[in-house]
Amino acid sequence: MDYAKNKEKVSLIGLCLDELRSLSEQVGEKTFRGQQLFDWIYRKNIDDYNLMTNLPGTFITELSEKYKFHPLVLAHCSESKKEPTKKFLFRTENGHMIESVLMHDGNRSTVCLSTQVGCAVDCQFCATAQMGFLKNLTAGEIIDQFIQIRSIIEEPPINVVFMGMGEPFLNYRSVIQAAELLHQPDGINLGFDRITISTVGIVPKIKRYTQEGHRYKLAISLNGVSQEQRLMIMPISKAHTLDDLLAAARKYASISRRKLTIEYVLIEKLNDSPEDAKTLKRLLRDIRCKLNLIPYNEIGGPYRRPNDDRINAFLAQLQNVSFPVTVRWSKGTDIDAGCGQLAIKENIIND
Ligand code: SAH
Repeated sequence: MDYAKNKEKVSLIGLCLDELRSLSEQVGEKTFRGQQLFDWIYRKNIDDYNLMTNLPGTFITELSEKYKFHPLVLAHCSESKKEPTKKFLFRTENGHMIESVLMHDGNRSTVCLSTQVGCAVDCQFCATAQMGFLKNLTAGEIIDQFIQIRSIIEEPPINVVFMGMGEPFLNYRSVIQAAELLHQPDGINLGFDRITISTVGIVPKIKRYTQEGHRYKLAISLNGVSQEQRLMIMPISKAHTLDDLLAAARKYASISRRKLTIEYVLIEKLNDSPEDAKTLKRLLRDIRCKLNLIPYNEIGGPYRRPNDDRINAFLAQLQNVSFPVTVRWSKGTDIDAGCGQLAIKENIIND
């Protein structure tokens, strides 16, 4: 393959049905060819023009001149020895590296997708923050992580979480376009409840998401029970205060009538005391939500994971609460694939 030429081509993956339709018109084909192309790419998972048997030869010649399928190249895959978890390393067209994680739990599998290269939010406990912010991913780069992983494994993943590198709500449009492509019933066809977008708490975007009435699941990383506590580990709380965040969360849950997920990373002696648990219980009392506790995955900084006794003491305060409480025992920590462990040490690999 002529690599330089291939690099100049536009990627089809990431284009929505309307875009594929107008692309077909632009090259002098009937509009419905766009629908056929959509079907091959997203539903049938085909990335070879030769196999697209219902497309006319002229169209295929035109397409293969100017368009390729994948915006990403799979560079590496590592597998956990402890759990059925794999981490994938992809290279973008301009040489940035991103990571995605595939986790199996019984017969359910979940893919965790990155939305940005690095992250600008600077949460003190997260390895991605240490990379700084390099680039927003396009919808194609987000969805291609899913598509490439889907074609490698036997059973397609049934859940997708936007919880990899980056802050999804600082790349709002591409994330929503990627979620739409995952959901499209004629294409990948994942139910709304199978797609979760996790945000650090960008309040105006939570409001926008609520107004626009999206039906994908929303998760908010609370990680502290007071403004002071949040400020210690999440500088973004200065701009988006705990009070504003809780108000936006409450409004989302009541308007959408959907259950919000509240994520809470448990960090030893910072936010994991029984007192903190009691405050948390009070804060969430009137929000339609479920609480997901995430014992901290250490990344070599000053913070520690609480021991199991501390975690259980925290949990003990949350008996008989009105909302469900779950603990996320992170998968794949031996290959740095756990929550908050995704980071690329040397970015921009020149080719
Ligand atoms: N930026 C988004 C999504 C990425 S992080 C967000 O903040 O929600 C996904 C989840 O992992 C978040 O709840 C985050 O708080 C949590 N997390 C980050 N670093 C972690 C670490 N070292 N250990 C455990 N969880 C972590």
